[in-house]
Amino acid sequence: MEVLKNFINGTWVNSKELNTIDVINPANQEVLGKVPYGVNTSDDFGMAVDAAAEAYLSWSQTPVMQRVQPLYHLKRLLEENLEDLASTITMECGKTLGESRGELQRAIENVEVACGMPVMMQSEFSENIARGIDEFMIRQPLGVCGCISPFNFPGMIPFWFLPYAIAAGNTFIIKPSEKVPLTMIKAFELIEQLDLPKGVLQLVHGGKETVDAMLDHPEVKAISFVGSTKIARYVYQRGTANGKRVQAQGGAKNPVVILPDADIEMSTNIVTDSTFGCAGQRCLAASNIIIVGDNKGIIKDSLYESAKKRTTGYGLDESMEMGPVINSASKERIYGLIDQGLNEGGNLLLDGRGASISGFEKGNFIKPSIIENLPLDGEILKTEIFGPVMSLIQLDSIDDALKFVNSGIYGNMACIFTSSGANARKFRSMANAGNIGINIGVAAPMAQFPFSGWNESFFGDLHGQGRHAVEFFTQTKVVVERWPKEWSRKF
Ligand code: NAD
Repeated sequence: MEVLKNFINGTWVNSKELNTIDVINPANQEVLGKVPYGVNTSDDFGMAVDAAAEAYLSWSQTPVMQRVQPLYHLKRLLEENLEDLASTITMECGKTLGESRGELQRAIENVEVACGMPVMMQSEFSENIARGIDEFMIRQPLGVCGCISPFNFPGMIPFWFLPYAIAAGNTFIIKPSEKVPLTMIKAFELIEQLDLPKGVLQLVHGGKETVDAMLDHPEVKAISFVGSTKIARYVYQRGTANGKRVQAQGGAKNPVVILPDADIEMSTNIVTDSTFGCAGQRCLAASNIIIVGDNKGIIKDSLYESAKKRTTGYGLDESMEMGPVINSASKERIYGLIDQGLNEGGNLLLDGRGASISGFEKGNFIKPSIIENLPLDGEILKTEIFGPVMSLIQLDSIDDALKFVNSGIYGNMACIFTSSGANARKFRSMANAGNIGINIGVAAPMAQFPFSGWNESFFGDLHGQGRHAVEFFTQTKVVVERWPKEWSRKF
């Protein structure tokens, strides 16, 4: 099987690294590709930076109206090739086709918003700050920028950054997750068709070595990272110590509160979707479900019934609602966390372990699982499981719920289900999380809003998407200007 190529300086090139790892379909263990992985990927990255630095000289001076034209074309190509891209995501990542289509839709929306760069980059001008003196601010690009992405949204996450970075005049290098590199290969086969100067957009494979090369290369000015909190912190610390601008999105453990006045059937269906969609492998998955007040029994039963009937199987089968987890190591890790929960005194209300899917016996399938009676100060209620496991918590009041929500170390998302505007407003204001859902299970910001993780879910100042992306990918220059005929005082 051919080794996956890098896209550097406008052409597909072999990696300098001979060592590879397999890209594996998590539903059946089929090997889909071989991706370069090892120390020499840092040389590949160096080549990409050289090309990106050269391309930057002219791209940064290209009028912004011209820079967005390839993005209009890219939007069309992504739409025309959506089905092919979606099935690639499903094959390498495991999620259902519907989920793959959904993430691509989000990618396209970011391209659309970035097409507004001619307006979004406009700046401020003050005439006559003193007689005959004007002052204005210009937004200029930074230079070579890079992105490091995780396995769970191979088609969407690079697009939280890519369109804004290049529309703002930067050149951009993507390092996809080594577990799911095929989607970006397909995306770059489309990018190759754009009228983009070579070196403006590039793709370099690898793992830690490629990341470290990005973190250390003096020519790289800004890095966008999405992945686990441990690596996000590392990337932020090493990147900023090297003087780079870094935005690093990390892990999560999202609480969802169901108040007694919520619409029970609707709420529990939405919460089940949030917990088990993408097999729980998303940073906005509901994880700790807090049932408050009366109706505890009815809500618990409704969650159980909704979870139990979820269909699990191969994502390419359109009748399936949930696919496998990414690899066998992840499956073992999730089993270990369930065991740990049981050791902490939890009760496994719904046990999804040992799932065997006919025709896909080797797949990394775990069916929906629900665990209850976990101690509030135990490890499992604090640990990101990143699998199809719901933890049920029962509390007496919204204040108790808020106290629990705000005791967590993450802050990616917090949601509440209620028909009370006053309680919703209180929650919206008091919950320590950057993305809030009110009667919404996955509070994913649209492309025009920042993806606002807080606390251990985010390291940096400016988030991905929307106006934050415009600010992240530009630096401001302020000019104070006076012309000799307009001297405002005599010298
Ligand atoms: P990960 O941290 O293992 O990997 C992310 C990227 O970092 C990959 O490209 C990988 O090659 C690289 N990497 C891994 N180990 C490294 C190391 N030691 N040094 C340098 N680079 C390294 O994350 P993952 O398992 O691919 O993705 C799942 C995680 O991502 C979850 O924690 C999830 O919550 C998080 N996530 C967060 C968001 C968000 O918006 N906050 C979105 C999606 C996923």
